[in-house]
Amino acid sequence: MTAGRAEPMPARKPGADVVRWDAPLQFLKGVGPQGALALGKLNLRTVGDLLRHYPRRWEDRSNFQRVADVQNGEFVSLCGIVIAVSTAYPKPRMALTKVLVDDDGAALTLTWFNQPYLEKTFLALKAARRPIVVYGQARRSGWSLEIQNPEWEEIGEDDATFSTNRIVPIYPATEGVRQTRLRKLVDAALQACLDEIEETLPPDVLLRHRLVGAQNALRQIHFPDSLPELDAARRRLIFEEFFTLQTLLALRRRASSHDARGLSFTVSPERLRDDLKQIVPFALTRAQQRAIDEIGADLSSGRAMNRLLQGDVGSGKTMVALAAMLMAVENGYQAAIMAPTEILAQQHAIVFRRLLEPLGLSVELATGSRGAKDKAGVRERLAGGQSHVAVGTHALIQEGVEFAKLGLVIIDEQHRFGVLQRQALAKKGQRPHILVMTATPIPRTLTLTLYGDLDVSVLDELPPGRKPIATHWKTQDKRSQVYAGAQRFLSEGRQVYVVCPLIEESEKLQAKSATQLSEHIANEVFPQYRVGLLHGQMKPDEKDAVMARFNAHDLDILVSTTVIEVGIDVPNASVIIIEDADRFGLAQLHQLRGRVGRGQHASFCVLMAEPKTEDGRARMAVMTETGDGFKIAEEDLRLRGPGEFYGTKQSGLPEMTIADILRDMDVLLETRETAFALVEADPKLARAENQPLRRSLERSKLGFELITVS
Ligand code: ADP
Ligand code: MG
Repeated sequence: MTAGRAEPMPARKPGADVVRWDAPLQFLKGVGPQGALALGKLNLRTVGDLLRHYPRRWEDRSNFQRVADVQNGEFVSLCGIVIAVSTAYPKPRMALTKVLVDDDGAALTLTWFNQPYLEKTFLALKAARRPIVVYGQARRSGWSLEIQNPEWEEIGEDDATFSTNRIVPIYPATEGVRQTRLRKLVDAALQACLDEIEETLPPDVLLRHRLVGAQNALRQIHFPDSLPELDAARRRLIFEEFFTLQTLLALRRRASSHDARGLSFTVSPERLRDDLKQIVPFALTRAQQRAIDEIGADLSSGRAMNRLLQGDVGSGKTMVALAAMLMAVENGYQAAIMAPTEILAQQHAIVFRRLLEPLGLSVELATGSRGAKDKAGVRERLAGGQSHVAVGTHALIQEGVEFAKLGLVIIDEQHRFGVLQRQALAKKGQRPHILVMTATPIPRTLTLTLYGDLDVSVLDELPPGRKPIATHWKTQDKRSQVYAGAQRFLSEGRQVYVVCPLIEESEKLQAKSATQLSEHIANEVFPQYRVGLLHGQMKPDEKDAVMARFNAHDLDILVSTTVIEVGIDVPNASVIIIEDADRFGLAQLHQLRGRVGRGQHASFCVLMAEPKTEDGRARMAVMTETGDGFKIAEEDLRLRGPGEFYGTKQSGLPEMTIADILRDMDVLLETRETAFALVEADPKLARAENQPLRRSLERSKLGFELITVS
């Protein structure tokens, strides 16, 4: 049985109900309250959600193959009649159901494991002599052909056009909603509201980029008439997703820079250089100097700075922050820097005090854990303008913290904060300049999408003398060897971090396991060395004390949870042993590893891991192969997918459902140019041809109004 080219999708059947795009799914024909509940599990609530539930892939089932022609290993669509059904129990708890299907005299076997209930279904089909269609990977041995766990369905009168005899959509499915059902529902949704769908891309964008129209694309993405038409539909929808994103970014950027007049600082590069020379004990790298120049240009431009400083762990972002602060302070303004952890804030306070106090500048530390009296003092000095620089955690954005004249806001380890927190700190001043810093090397590709509204400076150079961190992946049986290696470094006067296994269930458990590990190390492994312990359940002043002792080399070994993950800087520490390393994500491992290799000493990172998953092994392999944060970030993006990447959810940007930032990079660049040009030409989206786009952005609830009004 072979079939010709698929029929084009019929236009709406006469008399079909019209349902609006935003109507709840239960009003769609064939869904009902029960069905709506099941679809809700796929996060599908409205008819539009269902239509935007794009297929995960497609299968060209427009031609059935013949059993006789099938090659071993090939994915095939076949059609035939059930002629025998049996279930055997080769082992206890194992059911093996076999169904023999006849295709014009040649036979193939379908096999299912542990689904004995299928026997009844197939016996009924055998009795009815109705053809079924199967799809799957064929295994041929000699004359026999087998497909294990095939996708299959019977050919009914109705659904034939959705699941066979055409290019078939395969949806991301869930329990309780079968592919065949989804296909029918999507068809019903198309019937019901395709005509209502508005073209959001402006006509000349469609024309110039050779894109198919919205309705056509939506129909073809679900039920393609041919592969070229499917391609055209995908391209259009990918373009649309990126274009929407880039338009939002272009508007945001306009709102934050062009419209926004900012404080204009007077910057004297010579004076700054002299100051820095006086207080910084080393020469800046060229990359640091370049970033400082770029910041200086922003600060004196008259427009509010909105800059992202991106640099791998250890590239020296703190000194760039210091230079920016000096520029603000010299202009009579205050500067604030916010860090994600108390330990990091504390460390920054120590560094900035050491460097700035000799210049007669005063630095405040604001963290949640400080006593009420301390806090009151800090607040008073910041509000009164006696203090020049504030270092702190989230405590900085609390109510009651006020600044006399806040001119510069710096967010360290920006990926740990959301857009709202960034804005909350900025609100403490009158449109202060903003610098966000991240050690998480966002792949260049993602920078464009997530931070497309910021200017970017990159520290692409490490301070001189750094040696690559030798990274080894070891299993439990090599533990004594690992300790022997650490011993060598300890005897040479270096310090060692031991990072405890990640326990996500509870901080308490995590603290307990850290305590046990540190006792074991102190008593049994390295009794001759001084061992400290650091975890999230300790009181802040205990943490500070331990960190200070490790810093001062009063401790040789620091057993710690991930509280040391970001920012911690102890150059004499040159070995880090990460326990159960496969429980950590790539970005986190790279950050942890960045705690060593910060000085002149040769450094080691040991990943103790026996990964149980393919993914875990892949992460260990990536870590041992490269030290390049950007490469690691791209791998991370590949392994985890962009949705999960660095809190995209917090970024207040639309989700990508069909576009893939890595795969579709060329389209992303294309849309970026187009969208930025469009916003440049029509900043308020006021022109007639941009009205549908404007409406769709308004509907998207992504703060579009805020942008255009401000
Ligand atoms: P990160 O970019 O990870 O925040 P840091 O600012 O903590 O990096 O710097 C890492 C280490 O490198 C610190 O010990 C810092 O003093 C040192 N450092 C920074 N810049 C230079 C430089 N130009 N030359 C030598 N050492 C530097
Ligand atoms: Mg840092």
